[in-house]
Amino acid sequence: MLSANSQNAILPPMRISYLECTRCGEHLSADRPQNVCPKDGGVLFVRYDLAGLKGKLRRDDLSGRVASMWRYAEVLPDADPVTLGEGFTPMLPNRCGGGALPRNGAEPRHHTSCEPANVFIKDEGLNPTGSFKARGMSAAVTMARHYGLKKLAAPSAGNAGGALAAYAAAAGIEAYIFMPKDVPLANRMECDYYGAHVTLVDGLISDCGRMVAERIEKERLSNHKEGWFDVSTLKEPFRVEGKKTMGYEVAEQFGWKLPHGIIYPTGGGVGMIGMWKAFDEMEELGWIGSERPKMIAVQAAGCAPIVKAWEAGKSTSEMWADASTFAAGLRVPKAYGDYLILDILKKSRGTAVAASDEEILAAMRHWASVEGVFAAPEGAASLVAYQKLLASGFFRADDTVVLFNTGSAYKYLDMIAAQEKKARPAAPVARSINIGGIIGPY
Ligand SMILES: [Zn+2]
Repeated sequence: MLSANSQNAILPPMRISYLECTRCGEHLSADRPQNVCPKDGGVLFVRYDLAGLKGKLRRDDLSGRVASMWRYAEVLPDADPVTLGEGFTPMLPNRCGGGALPRNGAEPRHHTSCEPANVFIKDEGLNPTGSFKARGMSAAVTMARHYGLKKLAAPSAGNAGGALAAYAAAAGIEAYIFMPKDVPLANRMECDYYGAHVTLVDGLISDCGRMVAERIEKERLSNHKEGWFDVSTLKEPFRVEGKKTMGYEVAEQFGWKLPHGIIYPTGGGVGMIGMWKAFDEMEELGWIGSERPKMIAVQAAGCAPIVKAWEAGKSTSEMWADASTFAAGLRVPKAYGDYLILDILKKSRGTAVAASDEEILAAMRHWASVEGVFAAPEGAASLVAYQKLLASGFFRADDTVVLFNTGSAYKYLDMIAAQEKKARPAAPVARSINIGGIIGPY
């Protein structure tokens, strides 16, 4: 049985007006936990009384506020936040982004030939647990605690699991995480230390998602409710709320003038969906105009369902067979919110680009050696996409473009070592790693 502080108890009223289905427009109450639209399975968006906030909450009111995503408190759920200091990450100049990507081992070490920076790296690797997933989980776990939920379950390609485990630990809630057995070692280890219950699955995140759905269904049919709740990507409304703060930050960090383009590594695509929602909210608040950046989804060539659907002019994607890439977060064979992602690409006059593992590895080395940013493979894929779009004329050299680095490479050391070995079997880096025995085969 649930405690008095349960989903049946009367909770204080929230500033949330209602939850809205992104497919059929149905309104649902936020007074109790909700997953997806009961009619059509559509993703639910949180709606606030923005018209009522307009004029009362001004952009200038933000100055001096906490340097975390909770500085945008008025457009987030007003429960007591479960926070570890997530968000308000730096916007770094990408000083050497314009030229062709150098080959391995021939890196430029200076910036004398570089143009003034109009390309930027939004470095999400500095979040708690080392990825942008912290934002979504801070919001989702905040609301889970508010509702009195006891057991949070989610499938994860890696970093979402780590973030859920950390925030659940901070909130005193149990986390049940289902991950592919070959996720980066860091993800397995952090979940263990955060005290989460981890199930390693011989399959992909889609297989993990099915296992979560089965467990939740068991709870639904049970007479003895244990307080299980599914916090899978886009199957509860609050992870989007956390991730949308990236959109608020881009606007604030650019002095409320949005860039020409945003390149976003797209697995589940919630970051892009969230940012697009944020732009609409800021326009309603009178903070920005109607102009939008071109939104670019970058995926790994070994798992590119959105790119394939985009190129075929489709409004939904198909399950990608044999998904394979060392960018673990991009190994999502079908995104639940694919219809939202493809719609954003279309509305923003954006596009979708694929990057091979070889290109991603070269981009990682480039960013690390030239910019001092040791980016996650998913993040480095943004640089590959930018180079391709610059070469194709999609972007002009003086366009302001934000490349999202969604996480830290420190979470991927084993995957990077394996990829290095694959790419350059005799390379000194791979050799020294093997001899040192620090990062062995797993
Ligand atoms: Zn619906």
